[in-house]
Amino acid sequence: MSAQSLILIDAILLGLVFGSFLNVCIYRIPLGMGLGGRSLCPHCKALIAWYDNIPVMSFLILGTKCRKCKGPIRFRYPLVEILTAILSLTTLYREGFVFSHYLLWFFLFICPLIAITFTDIDHRVIPDMMSLPSIITGIIATLYFRWPDWENALFHSGGGILLGGGLLLLLSQLYFLIRKREGMGGGDIKLCAMLGAFLGWQGMVFVFFLSSILALLYGIITLMTQRKTKEPLVIPYGPFLSGAALIYYFYGSAILAFYFSLLGRPLVPITL
Ligand SMILES: [Zn+2]
Repeated sequence: MSAQSLILIDAILLGLVFGSFLNVCIYRIPLGMGLGGRSLCPHCKALIAWYDNIPVMSFLILGTKCRKCKGPIRFRYPLVEILTAILSLTTLYREGFVFSHYLLWFFLFICPLIAITFTDIDHRVIPDMMSLPSIITGIIATLYFRWPDWENALFHSGGGILLGGGLLLLLSQLYFLIRKREGMGGGDIKLCAMLGAFLGWQGMVFVFFLSSILALLYGIITLMTQRKTKEPLVIPYGPFLSGAALIYYFYGSAILAFYFSLLGRPLVPITL
């Protein structure tokens, strides 16, 4: 087996295993539970044996039911595992098979974004411990891998944090002044600061633009298909921010090159 196919298999396995760990984080962190200890069935509280806790495989073997109480296992668990494996593999390609770069972006950027996305969908909250440490690691990652000189790195990351976190903070304050209720959660502001630290201020312009279009489309489709209620429609913004950030990370250079070619101008060099 060639070295490259071994690395590919490693990336898939690492993705599946960490997808399984992210499921634990998504379930436990918002409930204030510790991450240690074995997994329990949420229905009958029975310990889940190791052979029933193998990513994706166990779900297929057990046929979507707990072995003891036959309570349903959410389809979401294998979905998160498969998604994490796919993103792990694409990160390896994105980083040109440089294993150290792949590990850094996968663990510090991709994994927190997956946890944040599904926690926000389930609980409408983005826990600080998922976003705040990543603001620091984002600066370090930029300094270490993208911009070797610290002045440019600080301009790139610091500008991203200011634009990401700062703009959203300003908007949420304005919204509160006008509507007298909270529109944008503090979690979204910290998430944007994190994304800015990794993607820089140019990345945040793209992320704000794309995420608002996606959220708007989702809102329109939901309003058109949902039954009419008096409740205002509340859309978690975190998944759209994370999705737009992933699209920028994977395809940003290609999309911007296409955009500038349409304008008939040479591409402004942007290092991601
Ligand atoms: Zn059970």
